[in-house]
Amino acid sequence: MVFSWLDISIPFLTHSVPAAPPLVPISVNWFPSRVCNYQCHFCFHTNTNDFVLPLEEAKRGLRLLADAGMKKLNISGGEPFLQPRYIGEVFKYCKEELAIEACSVVSNSSKVTEKWLDTYGQYLDVMAISCDSFDPETNIKQGRAEHATSATHIGTVFKVAQWVKDRGIKVKINSVITINNWEEDMNDQIEELAPFRWKVFQVLLLDAENTGAATGSLRDARHLTITREQFQAFLDRHASQTCLVPEDNESMKDSYLNLDEEMRFLNCQDGRKQPGRSLLKVGVQASLLDSGFDEKAFLNRGGIFDWKREAPESLEW
Ligand code: SF4
Repeated sequence: MVFSWLDISIPFLTHSVPAAPPLVPISVNWFPSRVCNYQCHFCFHTNTNDFVLPLEEAKRGLRLLADAGMKKLNISGGEPFLQPRYIGEVFKYCKEELAIEACSVVSNSSKVTEKWLDTYGQYLDVMAISCDSFDPETNIKQGRAEHATSATHIGTVFKVAQWVKDRGIKVKINSVITINNWEEDMNDQIEELAPFRWKVFQVLLLDAENTGAATGSLRDARHLTITREQFQAFLDRHASQTCLVPEDNESMKDSYLNLDEEMRFLNCQDGRKQPGRSLLKVGVQASLLDSGFDEKAFLNRGGIFDWKREAPESLEW
C-alpha cells in the first residue's frame, strides 16, 4: 500500500491547534517560613504555621525550578534571617550548583549579621530592606517593630544597608504605604540610603491574612487602606527619586509567582492566597497551572530588571 502526503497528513491537520507554550518561571518569590519577629498590622504573609521544608527537599524543588527556567530566586517571609544557615545554604546551592543568575532576599533587617554576610553574602545579589517610615512612632503604629514595641528599626536599616553595600550587594528598600505614612516626606532619608530600587507598595488586603478574624486572618489592615489618590500623592511627593518603582494594588495582583513553605504556588485571583499542588509532588508545569500567574502583568510591572550584583572588582571586602 502506498501512502500519499495527504493520507498521512490528515490526522495532523485535524489536530492543528497549537499547544500553549509552557510557562517559564523566570522569577520566583519563595516564602520558606512564615515565622517573623515583627508584628506589622498589614502583613500579608502571616505566621499561620511554623513549617520549614527540610533543606535537601528544598534543594530538590529549586533544581526542578532551575530546570524549568528560573533565573532569579527571591526569598521572602516571615523573616528569612530567623533561619540564617538555611537561607545561606539555599543561596549557595542556587549559585554554585544551579547557576541561578540572581538571588535576593527581603528582610526587616533586625537579624542580619556581618558574620552571615561574610559567609554567604557572596551568593546574594540584592537585599531588600523593609522600611515604611523614618519616624519611630509611625513604625510602632504600623507594628513595623520587633515584638511591636522596639524603636530600633530605623537605625538598623541604615546600619545593615551600609554593611550590604560594603560587600557589593545591591540595596533595595521596600515601603508599604498606609493611612499612617502616606503624608510623610521620605526624600532626604531615601537619598541618604541611595538604594538601586525603592519599591513603594500600596497596602494590600488579602483574606485569611490581614482582613480580620471573620476571614480567619491573624492581622487586620482594613483601617490602614488608602485611596488611589492618596497613594498617588505620596508618589508625586517623591517624584524626584529615580529609583522609585510604584506598585499599586492593581499592578501587584497576579504579577508574582509566589511559592509557599510547601512549594505550592499561591493563587491570589479571588482576593486570598489559595495554595495549589506542590511542585515537589506534581512537577513545575502542573503546579504552575494552579498559580493564576499573569505573565503580562509581571512584565508590565518591570519584573525583569538588572538584578545581578555589582561587578566582581567591587568585591574586595
Ligand atoms: S516584617 Fe512585617 S510584613 Fe514582613 S513578614 Fe514580618 S510581620 Fe510580615
